[in-house]
Order: sequence, then structure tokens, then C-alpha cells
Amino acid sequence: MKILIIGRGIAGSTLYYLFREKGHQVHVIESGFRKFYPTLIHSLLLRGKDIDLALDSLDFYRSHNVPLFSYPSYTIGEIPSEVFDDWLTRGFEVRELYVDWLNTSAIEGKKTDRLVGVKNLVDSVPYSHGNVYVDAKGRIFINKEKEVSGKYDIIILSSGAWNSVSTDFKLPLKSYYCWAWAVLTPKRELDRVFVYDYELGFYSRPVLGIGSFLSIVGDGDIIECSPFTPQVGDKRAVEKASKRLGPLVPFYKGDGYCEGTPDMRPVYGQLTEKIYYIGGLNGYGAEVGPGLAKILFRFIIEGEEDKNYSASRFNGIKEFKISKEPHEF
Ligand SMILES: Cc1cc2nc3c(=O)[nH]c(=O)nc-3n(C[C@H](O)[C@H](O)[C@H](O)COP(=O)(O)OP(=O)(O)OC[C@H]3O[C@@H](n4cnc5c(N)ncnc54)[C@H](O)[C@@H]3O)c2cc1C
Repeated sequence: MKILIIGRGIAGSTLYYLFREKGHQVHVIESGFRKFYPTLIHSLLLRGKDIDLALDSLDFYRSHNVPLFSYPSYTIGEIPSEVFDDWLTRGFEVRELYVDWLNTSAIEGKKTDRLVGVKNLVDSVPYSHGNVYVDAKGRIFINKEKEVSGKYDIIILSSGAWNSVSTDFKLPLKSYYCWAWAVLTPKRELDRVFVYDYELGFYSRPVLGIGSFLSIVGDGDIIECSPFTPQVGDKRAVEKASKRLGPLVPFYKGDGYCEGTPDMRPVYGQLTEKIYYIGGLNGYGAEVGPGLAKILFRFIIEGEEDKNYSASRFNGIKEFKISKEPHEF
């Protein structure tokens, strides 16, 4: 089959490999709207079915030589006991302990949290530059003029936060702005661990992973808006993190746009006989994106529906607001 993938992000890049490895002809078109930072967080410490997606994503990264850098994590705050038990049942190396340098008790995770080199994945995918639009009749236009609908058997809209502005179809998706700060810290251990603090409401992650004086802190705060509307992200995450981690000096804001659904969990769906979409990966697309792409791939090839993630769960929902990201506790 001839496949068109709209958007060379995490989902689009995974789909490129899945189809190509089965012998299909795949063409990826990328507009360049999105900037990619070298690494993103991949954590297995999620809830329920999302853990399966995260494990599937990890398999994909491993089998496609996407760089992975594992560091211990410390989760502070109330984690529901059934969630913790699930982590134990799945064989994850997690235990509760007192962490001297954090001055609090936490759940330590080993081999559960990684930085994943998503930029390597995305950069490995060949593409043509263009801005694709899908109109209400399912016609596909590149840069608003060239119609290419007839050239492809399957078309997949995987444009992340730009999904809804790339089509006339009404999708159960909304975009929002999110941001995090690169900070200087005297605590070199912060460049070798993940801290998820649900008591004070922030996270910290390594930058270089070598014990430098750097880390990145954020707080999961979001601003619902169009992906074309510039926003100013505040420094509240740094203030909250300083209370636990000591003095932090913010020097660079990393930001961008994400996408959520009515239940804030990912979605795939079918728009016409040959047009599909994938999205709603909000702030955890590196964690669950490749897993969701595998589900869409199976749906297209074998017709196998996964009701946990298919758009049918939103039937009847007309309006919704973006809420808390599902990887937060
Ligand atoms: C600052 C920041 C930090 C983040 N940190 C993490 C993290 O640590 N861990 C994690 O798991 N997730 C993180 N995320 C979320 C993660 O980046 C997203 O969930 C994920 O990238 C979504 O994947 P996607 O494939 O749906 O979309 P994207 O990866 O955004 O890819 C969509 C692509 O489509 C392109 N595009 C858009 N419109 C068009 C069009 N009309 N035609 C052609 N191409 C188009 C875009 O330019 C983009 O390249 C972060 C996000 C941001 C913004």
C-alpha cells in the first residue's frame, strides 16, 4: 500500500517504521512547526493500560536502537496503594525508603525511568517538507494548493498539537502550551535522578546525565490555547522545586504545545475509509506514543479495535476542557 503520514513526530515516526518494515511505501510530510529537544522522559510508573503502552514503546525504542539512558527515580507524595501494588506485580523494582538528600520518604524506582533520545528517532525518518491539510471531504492538500488525495491508499494525520488545525473534521482533541526550565543547581545528583514530587507539585529530570550542575524542572501546569498562539510560561515550578531541592537558577525555558482529549488519555480514530488520526498524547507521548502507534497499525492492517484508546469512547461528547495530565498523581 501507499501510505501518507502527516507529521514526523513521535507517533508519525513510529508509524513510518511499522509500515515500512511490512513492505509498504511510506511518505512522510513534515511542516517543521515543532521543535524537538534531544531527550524526553520515559517512565513506566503510570496507571493501568498506559503501562502496557509504555512497555510496548520501550520495546519499540530498543528494537530500533533509539538511545535510552536509565536513572533512578524518586516519587514523593501519595500514590494509591492499588497503583503501587500493580507496579510490584509487574515486577518493577520499586520500594519505599527515606532519602536523606531529599529529606523525605519516597518511592525509589530502579530501571523504571529513562531519558529517551526522541530526536534521534525523529531525525532518522526521511520526509518532504510541507504543510498538509485534510478538508471535510477527505481531500488532502499540500501547502493549501496541491491536491494529492488520489496518490495514497492510507493517510494518517499524526500532527500532534496541530491535528485539529490541520483538518476540517471535528476531532476530540485540544491543544495546550506547556513548559519547563533548565536550571543550575549545586546538587550534582539532580543530573542523575528523576524526582516526581506530588506534595510540592514539580518534577526534576537529568539534562546530561553525568552529574553536571544542571537539571530541568517543570510542574505539569498547562495553558489551553491554539498551537499558533505564543505564551509566557511562569517560573512557579522553579519556586516549588527550590523548596525541596535547594537553590536553583533558571536560565532557559523549554516549551511547546501538547494535545489532550476529554479523558486526557491518548486516542486513535478513523475519519473516512482511508483517513485515520492519532493523538492526544499530551505530556507523555515519549512514554506511550510508540505503543499507541502499534495499536493504530494493527487497527489499519487487521481491523482489530482497542476500545481503551479508540475514539468511539468519546461518542456523544461535544464540549470538553483540558484537565490534569494522566501521568501525574
Ligand atoms: C516542552 C515539552 C516537554 C515534553 N516533555 C516530555 C517528556 O519528558 N516525556 C514525554 O513522554 N512527553 C513529553 N512531552 C510531550 C511529547 O512531546 C508529546 O506527547 C509528543 O511529542 C506527541 O507526539 P505526536 O507524534 O502526537 O506529535 P508531535 O511529536 O508533536 O509531532 C507532530 C509533528 O507534526 C508536524 N505537523 C504539525 N502540523 C502539520 C501539518 N499540517 N502538516 C505536516 N506536518 C505537521 C509537527 O511539526 C510535528 O513535527 C513534552 C512536550 C513538550 C512541549
